[in-house]
Amino acid sequence: MSTLYIAGRWRTAASGETREITCPADGAVAVTVDEGGAADARDAVRAAREAFDVGPWPRTPAPERAALLSRIADRLERELDEVARLESLDTGKRHVEARIDMEDIVAVFRHFASLAQAEAGRVVDAGVPDVSSRVVTEPVGVCSLITPWNFPLLQTAWKVAPALAAGNTFVLKPSELTPQTSIWLVRALAEEGLPDGVANLVLGPGDTVGAAMTNAPEVDLVSFTGGLATGKTIMAAASTTVKKIALELGGKNPNVIFADADRDAAIDNALTAIFLDSGQVCSAGSRLVVEESIHDEVVDELVRRATAIRMGGPFDESAETGPLISDGHRAKVEAYVAAGIEEGAVLRCGGERPGGELAIGSYYPPTILDGCTSDMSCVQDESFGPVLTVETFAGDTRDAAEDAAIAIANDTIYGLTGAVWTQDAGRAERMARRLRHGTVWINDFHPYVPAAEWGGMKQSGIGRELGTAGLHEYQETKHIWHNTRPAPAGWFANPQD
Ligand code: NDP
Repeated sequence: MSTLYIAGRWRTAASGETREITCPADGAVAVTVDEGGAADARDAVRAAREAFDVGPWPRTPAPERAALLSRIADRLERELDEVARLESLDTGKRHVEARIDMEDIVAVFRHFASLAQAEAGRVVDAGVPDVSSRVVTEPVGVCSLITPWNFPLLQTAWKVAPALAAGNTFVLKPSELTPQTSIWLVRALAEEGLPDGVANLVLGPGDTVGAAMTNAPEVDLVSFTGGLATGKTIMAAASTTVKKIALELGGKNPNVIFADADRDAAIDNALTAIFLDSGQVCSAGSRLVVEESIHDEVVDELVRRATAIRMGGPFDESAETGPLISDGHRAKVEAYVAAGIEEGAVLRCGGERPGGELAIGSYYPPTILDGCTSDMSCVQDESFGPVLTVETFAGDTRDAAEDAAIAIANDTIYGLTGAVWTQDAGRAERMARRLRHGTVWINDFHPYVPAAEWGGMKQSGIGRELGTAGLHEYQETKHIWHNTRPAPAGWFANPQD
């Protein structure tokens, strides 16, 4: 099966190389795909450029573009179980979780289908007679879309749906570890009638395929989700031809619990905040910031509950969480925990690979590091694993407690998400406005809706996905001034007068 899709044709890599995709739950080979390289990426960029410059898609009426996105949503609903299965095999995540991701993706395609038709520009008053002045939006052009392995199709949908809604063409490179659902999506787009060259798929490593997609002068926009270091590399590369960039680079997200919070809800959600999808979530609540007076009660209960979380493979119905994405990633998480302990953090649970049946996969248990302070690397660096750090705050007065919590919660280079738990409505609002994070939950953690923007402040990224801003990332704004009664400007003297 050829798995690169360029200019409307499925093909193998120019080099002839292939890659085995293995399930991290047991190391079994899930599929063999073509391993593209820089030459394939350059071909794909040229195809996308041609499709944008002379193809029909950018000029296709918005209702037709919207209809195609709706057909993809319909199709995913019909094939949901199978696509979720592919996602589970690539990532090791539980099938039930992958199914939830697929439902989210259906909603994302529907959101951008409706938005594609809602935006028709606006008329502005030119302030002079006989002039029509209007502001219109147009597609940006050729988009390089580069996505990671933790929510492969979801993160791809957040880019592909608005890119197509706005009339762009694109080259997509998913993580080399998790390509199967991107192959499904591109095949679905082709079969639902997307013109040749609009969607191109190149599988392969980031430092060859991804770099070629970022450096190519024919590319107008690079939209990337992944690690901070790669984001910086992409930003620098994009500057050579002043490409637009949209970056989603993760976070180190505080989950602040005041003593007046609903204790049961706060503790239960603190578990899902960090341990959902084994912590491999950019918005995970990886920093617990808890008021000192309730620290022991909260942390003891978290330890008890975390220790009881059952790990298992994607189709093990008794499992509550799955493996990490790879042995290499697990080694990074282990090094991160070791550094935290070295710096003085107290290991309260987890921290050791499981044995028995789970020894065959890339498993790592829910882990809690207590007694942390903001200067520790485990508090500042992303582990991207199931590791919760605990910091405490205290204050003699209401304001002093809030100031202390904010000082800790904002002490990070990141700014993606944060949460506050309190039953004091005024405190909740004050805290929500002071947290320097792109999404803030009050008495909740994790939910999002496609209609609301998603993205980070500070080094968590540039730009927003979803919402209406998520469409605008893929649009240029143009002002058109139309003088319906042309006349000489009369600025410079005409010597014949
Ligand atoms: P990367 O940033 O390396 O990978 C994300 C995507 O970028 C992948 O498709 C990757 O390709 C590609 N890529 C890598 N290098 C380049 C490059 N030079 N130019 C263009 N594209 C490139 O993330 P990792 O998967 O290695 O994870 C590293 C860390 O990033 C994690 O530990 C975590 O902290 C963070 N992360 C954040 C995510 C988020 O949602 N914000 C998601 C995933 C990771 P490939 O890997 O196929 O070679």
